[in-house]
Amino acid sequence: MKLHEYQSKQLFARYGIPIPKGRVASTAQEAKQIAEELGGKVVIKSQVLVGGRGKAGGIRLAKNPTEAEELATQILSMEIKGLPVRKVLVDEAANISSEIYLGITNDRAARKPVIMASAAGGVDIEEVARVSPEKIVKVHIDPLLGLRDYQARDVAAGIDLPRDHWKNFIAITHGLWKVYTECDATLAEINPLVITAENQLIALDGKMIIDDNALFRHPEFSEMRDLDAEAPSEIEARKYGLSFIKLDGDIGCMVNGAGLAMTTMDIIKLFGGNPANFLDIGGGANADKVAAAFRIILSDPNVKAVLLNVFGGITRCDEVAHGIVAAMQEVKPKVPMVVRLVGTNAEEGREILATAQMITAETLVDAAQKAVAASKGAIQ
Ligand code: GDP
Ligand code: MN
Repeated sequence: MKLHEYQSKQLFARYGIPIPKGRVASTAQEAKQIAEELGGKVVIKSQVLVGGRGKAGGIRLAKNPTEAEELATQILSMEIKGLPVRKVLVDEAANISSEIYLGITNDRAARKPVIMASAAGGVDIEEVARVSPEKIVKVHIDPLLGLRDYQARDVAAGIDLPRDHWKNFIAITHGLWKVYTECDATLAEINPLVITAENQLIALDGKMIIDDNALFRHPEFSEMRDLDAEAPSEIEARKYGLSFIKLDGDIGCMVNGAGLAMTTMDIIKLFGGNPANFLDIGGGANADKVAAAFRIILSDPNVKAVLLNVFGGITRCDEVAHGIVAAMQEVKPKVPMVVRLVGTNAEEGREILATAQMITAETLVDAAQKAVAASKGAIQ
């Protein structure tokens, strides 16, 4: 789950990372009022869950409250990379002297968190990473030991940070590490962390991604979720407790068990097809849940065939079959459906399905081959 800039910065502040004064607004009038309260120049920042807002015209400087109102009106009517701007952050403007990148993420290959930093921060950091990766310093952190002081100093030295900023920079790095670990983040990033003309270090931008698997430990984050940036099918799936991830292929997959779902996707690819989704309906899925899963899969216009692969262990095949029949009556699919049912009550399940118009398969290979053929229009 991604957090907005204003949400990330509020968290940063709680961990002692300096941020500019400011507040979020949903209307231009509110933005004007905040600008009046702050006095002086402000920056109006679109709050959307995509990068590159600056380059898209979603970050603008305003000299006075009237201009703040005008710019907020403009920005609040924008769409950035397909996402509507519903809120703007109004912050005291900073006089930037230089822009630093500072971020922490998981390095899966190293199996450790990694701190990354660069003196060449700002909107072109991706370009820096591509063209001159040597300008990015990386320091891995032992998750059991946590961030050590010498490592924060190594980062400061690595980016040639002027000495007078070391103390604050090290405190900010510790703050970022703390917010990263305590919030179960997979990314905590400040870009840019600026040195101002007044020689202060301050986090102008903030980005955090929270590990969805840890959300149960952070009930406070659930109300921060912005559904605009998520596929509607994934939102619907979450309601029913289904693990669903939309993909770009054309074979809808309905499987019980995450491992079996992965295998099913692999085997579809092995036979030259492309899965339209990952879906684990879970153990003990009942008819309602199956019907919901079915609706979600079939709402994707790319889907040309569906492969149902159910191994009845805890899940009973007859329950699943009832769900399928109910959903078929409701959704009336126009695409071929291939089904493989094995395990508990498989016989009963097949009998229930006999009335439904489905292509049956005995083995997983057989099922995958039939689904791929069906997706290419070879069988119906
Ligand atoms: P992003 O483009 O989505 O990463 O948004 P940022 O919040 O990082 O803003 C993009 C750029 O706008 C920054 O790198 C700065 O150069 C500039 N910017 C942001 N806030 C201020 C500010 O208060 N004053 C000035 N002068 N520039 C700012
Ligand atoms: Mn940024």
